[in-house]
Amino acid sequence: MTRRDLHVHTCYCDGKSTPEEAVKAALEKGFGQIGLVAHSYVPFDEESCIKPEKIAEFQGEVRRLKEKYRGEIEVFCGLEEDIFSEQSREGFDYVIGSVHYIKRGGRYFSVDETPDILKNLIDGFYGGDFYACAEDYFALVGELEKKRPTFVGHFDLIKKFRSFIPFDSGEPRYVSAWRAAADRLIKSGLPFEINSGGIARGYLDEPYPSPEIAEYIKSQGGRLLLSSDAHRPEDIGFDFERLQGLI
Ligand SMILES: [Zn+2]
Ligand SMILES: [Zn+2]
Repeated sequence: MTRRDLHVHTCYCDGKSTPEEAVKAALEKGFGQIGLVAHSYVPFDEESCIKPEKIAEFQGEVRRLKEKYRGEIEVFCGLEEDIFSEQSREGFDYVIGSVHYIKRGGRYFSVDETPDILKNLIDGFYGGDFYACAEDYFALVGELEKKRPTFVGHFDLIKKFRSFIPFDSGEPRYVSAWRAAADRLIKSGLPFEINSGGIARGYLDEPYPSPEIAEYIKSQGGRLLLSSDAHRPEDIGFDFERLQGLI
């Protein structure tokens, strides 16, 4: 089976390597397909997303690599579209639908950036109740259904900082929240990625989504694919051998 990783970031957003360095690393690791993706533009977090004036350049560079490496590895151009982004999908081969922020009090709080930002959100707007925040997060993830992405990115990203902000993933409110979102997305036929990025970066010892959620998705007829969300070439395909059993 062709090895593939459709979630690899480059220096066009917050990744470390050039697109070509990423393609070469994937080739060396024996991949037959690689998807280079950019975080879609959002005006409230310009540090981590692609700049509007760089979109055409990114797409052009990926097209060049597609041609250059034809016959060795298939190269795709992807957009990791945040649910709050209004950037056009034109020129991209596929779209990963992701939730990275919760909007409260007119501000966007990243659930992905630092434990402090998440803690400020939970304390400031949810009275310190992590589960209430997780309910809002998963409600937003369920809304990805309307966006019709190619697949759903890091389904349970809200758990990223659990070593700083501990919670019980068996808590019924948490389980109902993710189940409602998963049911909605499965019903609409959207595949989910099994994303090893949180493991590669040392935050977690399990992927997004967690094995119990992946099992649930499978049991309900949902589809899963492996991806790394690599921000460094060495993380392409990270832990795929171990996670293969989940798909
Ligand atoms: Zn993401
Ligand atoms: Zn990503």
